[in-house]
Amino acid sequence: MASSARRNPACPCGVGKTYETCCAVVHNDGAAFGVSAEALMRARYSGYVLEDRPFLLRSWHPDTRPKNITFSPNQEWLGLTIVDKHRGGPLDTEGTVEFIARFRHGTDYFELHELSTFERLDGQWVYKTGNDPAN
Ligand SMILES: [Zn+2]
Repeated sequence: MASSARRNPACPCGVGKTYETCCAVVHNDGAAFGVSAEALMRARYSGYVLEDRPFLLRSWHPDTRPKNITFSPNQEWLGLTIVDKHRGGPLDTEGTVEFIARFRHGTDYFELHELSTFERLDGQWVYKTGNDPAN
């Protein structure tokens, strides 16, 4: 994962900073989980791009955390757009982030449109659930 970050220093989450000054801070320092639900959402997207399984599991609420995460070898992530967010700030204990993540399998293009719920647990944001915003 570090090698792909070196090849392309722009952070995969698309916020416009280098990976080292953006999601790497959240990936490498648990204290940074406390910043905001959106920052954790971006870091989780980058975690999928870089296939950082330990970080993705660590930032998942223990009530909903899967036993493992598998990455599809044919899936290429293309970008993240934050559509909307509610709460999830320094003084909140819950927050939601609506996003669209684009990816492709070969020549087939997809969009994952999800409303994610985050909860602050012992001072740190964790990902709890994701739902289709249309439902
Ligand atoms: Zn980032």
